[in-house]
Amino acid sequence: MVLPVVKYGDPILRRKGSNIETITPDLTGFIADMFETMKASRGIGLAAQQVGRAIQLTVIDVRGITDRPSQLWLQGTLADVESFMPLVLMNPVLKPSGTRVNGPEGCLSFPEIFGDVERPCEVEVSALNERGERFSFKAGGLLARAIQHEVDHLNGILFIDRMDAESRREAQPEIDELQAETRARLTRK
Ligand code: ZN
Repeated sequence: MVLPVVKYGDPILRRKGSNIETITPDLTGFIADMFETMKASRGIGLAAQQVGRAIQLTVIDVRGITDRPSQLWLQGTLADVESFMPLVLMNPVLKPSGTRVNGPEGCLSFPEIFGDVERPCEVEVSALNERGERFSFKAGGLLARAIQHEVDHLNGILFIDRMDAESRREAQPEIDELQAETRARLTRK
């Protein structure tokens, strides 16, 4: 089932997700819905907060994106990114490393709003998969950026918080408009 994507201005986007303790059939169904929603929205990542639940869960899929490459290392060895996709990350712990690089970002909760965000170019990830098994890897390129963006969501942090000053200044009127629209819709409910 494709779920409605929460837009900026909804307070759930600022809520830190609680840790997942058990894999229930309800959670497994929710993960499947998140994949469907991400695909239907043509996103490369989706956090649980964006579809209405404040829990430590995100899905990521960078397949088919050729203009912005991704890298993935398993125990120091470069692996095939595509065969590792799509990814489910539950209760993720990140250790970013490498130089900070500026790159464009968007977000399904901010339609039509884009801006440059500086982030470390690599990140070590430890998380649980959809079966609750712990796994770890290192990501680079677009995948490293997507993971950091999504895990920020799980902690109530949004890409506009990290946007460079010039991008933020340019986007501010649209951000304000979106926030007002969302708040108006929520109070009408
Ligand atoms: Zn986002």
